[in-house]
Amino acid sequence: MFQSHLGSLSYEVKELVKIVYLDNAATTKISKVALDAMMPYLLDGFGNPSTIYSVGREAKNAIENARRTLAGCIGALPEEIYITSGGTESINWAIKSAVELKKSKGAHIITSAIEHAAVLKSCKYLEKNGCEVTYLGVDEFGRISLDELRSAIRDDTVLITIMTANNEMGTILPVSEIGEIAKENGVLFHTDAVQAVGHIPIDVKEINADLLSFSGHKLGCIKGVGVLFVKKGLRLPPFIHGGGQERGGRSGTENVAGIVSVAAVLEDILPRLPLLGVAKLRDKLIKGVLEIPSTSLTGDPTNRLPGIASFVFKGVEGESMLLMLDQNGICASSGSACTSGSLDPSHVLLAMGLSHETAHGSLRFSLSEDNTEAEIDYVLEKLPAIIARLRSMSPLWN
Ligand code: PLP
Repeated sequence: MFQSHLGSLSYEVKELVKIVYLDNAATTKISKVALDAMMPYLLDGFGNPSTIYSVGREAKNAIENARRTLAGCIGALPEEIYITSGGTESINWAIKSAVELKKSKGAHIITSAIEHAAVLKSCKYLEKNGCEVTYLGVDEFGRISLDELRSAIRDDTVLITIMTANNEMGTILPVSEIGEIAKENGVLFHTDAVQAVGHIPIDVKEINADLLSFSGHKLGCIKGVGVLFVKKGLRLPPFIHGGGQERGGRSGTENVAGIVSVAAVLEDILPRLPLLGVAKLRDKLIKGVLEIPSTSLTGDPTNRLPGIASFVFKGVEGESMLLMLDQNGICASSGSACTSGSLDPSHVLLAMGLSHETAHGSLRFSLSEDNTEAEIDYVLEKLPAIIARLRSMSPLWN
């Protein structure tokens, strides 16, 4: 047990067991780069950026420097970068405000069936408020059809919102082509790039994005910082009203240290993208796991995120796998982190044509640069016995 005393407060933290953390698509540990970047603004540079004395001005400068860096990392201009509290907020702002901005043209949105809940539930909310939404299906690898996208566009279509890469099974979507189609048809294009930025190279101009969302805590930064790219010339209605921060679009005193850390981490990681070292570990993991009988990879076998290895195991239930992996110090996920706790099978796997029963046996490992080959060996040593044990107890097996 560790004991700590802060004045009259005291708390105990259970002795930390070394864990093999393979749930980086859910969230990440704060990296050293992030922590080093944050420290000055947690300590002496704590000022409110809206104040005029030097400690406040320094905080303001730090945000503007971070904005320049963030913009440079995704091929944007500094004035196209807005800071939010995370991916969910950026996505909500992008979708709801884009629809409001274009209401004189129509109220039809096109999205895909495999989006994160932040997109799907924003769309559902808008449907209740008079919008129509087309949900494009996907094939067995989680890929959309560009022809279907083209035929779904109508005169009243105002927004296409399709993710850059899927969080549950790692398929990378053809965002450059989607952006091109949106542009040809005069429709706004938003992409949820929460799992992509910091993992694969992203350039907003190359993909013709009008709006792009991402989040710091998937990149080794503290939770509570997101970014929304808004193409120059597009004047989105404000999302959070108040003191007028973020050029009036998103009020609220800024998370200076968090913002600075996202810029530092992204700048640091940029030369290493795509994360080939991580992809090598992912491939080793995939190869080893597929040696377990009646196991399949989910998602695109080749065009996938460097860090995501996702599977379905026949006759096994996802939650039980997670519990037994946890007993062995391994953290993974079944479905997406945000919907875990729900017993419904993943909407993503169902959209890919898997049966309810098969989709219940899903497991996702998501890797980061912190993971090692020894950790992958450890998982490959433990997993076959876990699956065999669960199958021996399962009424679904044989
Ligand atoms: N979009 C995707 C694809 C995600 O994976 C997540 C988080 O899991 C989000 C959006 C939400 O991001 P945040 O947790 O920063 O709100």
